[in-house]
Amino acid sequence: MKGIINPATEEELTQVHEASVEDLDAAVSRASKAFDSWRKVTPADRARLLRRVAGLVEEHGEELARLETQNVGKPISDSRGEVGMVAEVFYYYAGAIDKHLGENIPVEGGVDITFHEPLGVVGSITPWNFPLNIASWKLAPALACGNTCVLKPAEITPLTSLRLGELVLEAGVPEGVVNVVTGSGSLVGQRLVEHPDVAKVAFTGSTQVGAGIMKGAADTIKRVTLELGGKSANIVFADADLDSAATSAGPAVFGNAGQDCCARSRILVQRKAFDRFASLFVEATAKMKVGDPEDNATEMGPLVSADQRDNVASYVDMDVMFAGDVPEGAGYWYPPTILGPISNGSKQAREEIFGPVACLIPFDDEDEAIRIANDTPYGLSGSIWTRDVGRALRVARGVNSGVLSINSNTSVRPSTPFGGMKQSGFGRELGMHALAGYSDIKNVFISTEE
Ligand code: NAD
Repeated sequence: MKGIINPATEEELTQVHEASVEDLDAAVSRASKAFDSWRKVTPADRARLLRRVAGLVEEHGEELARLETQNVGKPISDSRGEVGMVAEVFYYYAGAIDKHLGENIPVEGGVDITFHEPLGVVGSITPWNFPLNIASWKLAPALACGNTCVLKPAEITPLTSLRLGELVLEAGVPEGVVNVVTGSGSLVGQRLVEHPDVAKVAFTGSTQVGAGIMKGAADTIKRVTLELGGKSANIVFADADLDSAATSAGPAVFGNAGQDCCARSRILVQRKAFDRFASLFVEATAKMKVGDPEDNATEMGPLVSADQRDNVASYVDMDVMFAGDVPEGAGYWYPPTILGPISNGSKQAREEIFGPVACLIPFDDEDEAIRIANDTPYGLSGSIWTRDVGRALRVARGVNSGVLSINSNTSVRPSTPFGGMKQSGFGRELGMHALAGYSDIKNVFISTEE
């Protein structure tokens, strides 16, 4: 059994079973058996079941949000928003099932049609920072396409995934269609990746583990989608609404205590507006409410673990422009911290710190902004702040990231594709694009020759 800790209090919440390889194999075998019948459930019935899951998530919204907050340490207002999105994602894919259309392709001598076929058993491996949300991004489209799933949540934050598994059963989804297996990544995660009866692995986590997943999946030619790390740029031009840019920059990097793959942790500011932006940003950050994540007013909670806090602290050894306050006593606290001005070549600007640390980097012109934004192994998200529409679009086309926003810091919506370029991974979650990752195309030709 593994003790599950509340990072705000350092108290044990509960203990969770640590699955063995045999447990994992049994889950895959249940999922394989369930696939034979689940793939034949009519689209209308599958949609009805997914809508019921969404309804139960809404009904149990407060309970799920509290559980997520206690396990991850994120502010309760964030958890409520995330649980709301989980329901939306299930509703979205319930509605998508009968819109995932095949084709009728003009050919000589007959009729040619394509079908979207489910893949089989999908292994979903999720990280600890958005456990329930990311589980829903993987389960809902996989189930919509007719696959069955084995979900392996992160070791330290499995509680909402386990509860979702119960709600899926309560909704009437047949046993074996969704299986939640808790345990170590290097043991049961690895086995899921290598298991010959698993058709695809949908992974969200670090780039380093993602590289191992690709290798592990190679022997059985598994499909893989990888949502990996990021070090995204928030590009602020001098002509932007600096007040909005500065107040948005905080949530964009300190949200979820910076433990966010989309964190815009490199803030690139045009040199002529650098001092003004920096003082607005420091002023806004100083007002952030850091503390008890179960308090409705809290904007930033603790980090998820002592290891994570110590790793973040190891990066803060120079050019500290601002560091906030944190509560005293128990909890894995780390203050919102601004470094700057720093060079994009420094390790603080190159590595994914995955904590509440913002790097301010000056630039002179549009070309330099694009060059710095792209000077990273990652390519996940980012923002562009300017009042010049032409420039906004030129920069958006020039930055190699999968998800960008202009005059906004948002990245994720149920109906729009989400995913990375470069070492942030490949494949897309959410939106209709995700369905391509959970189905194969079968082409059938029917002769009409006499
Ligand atoms: P991690 O890579 O350490 O672990 C992710 C998951 O993989 C966990 O469930 C873990 O148990 C499992 N795992 C570990 N070793 C494994 C192995 N050998 N085989 C199979 N599974 C294994 O990541 P983390 O620390 O939980 O999460 C933080 C990372 O996730 C950050 O890099 C962050 O950027 C990334 N992330 C990316 C996205 C995205 O959508 N791009 C979203 C959230 C988090």
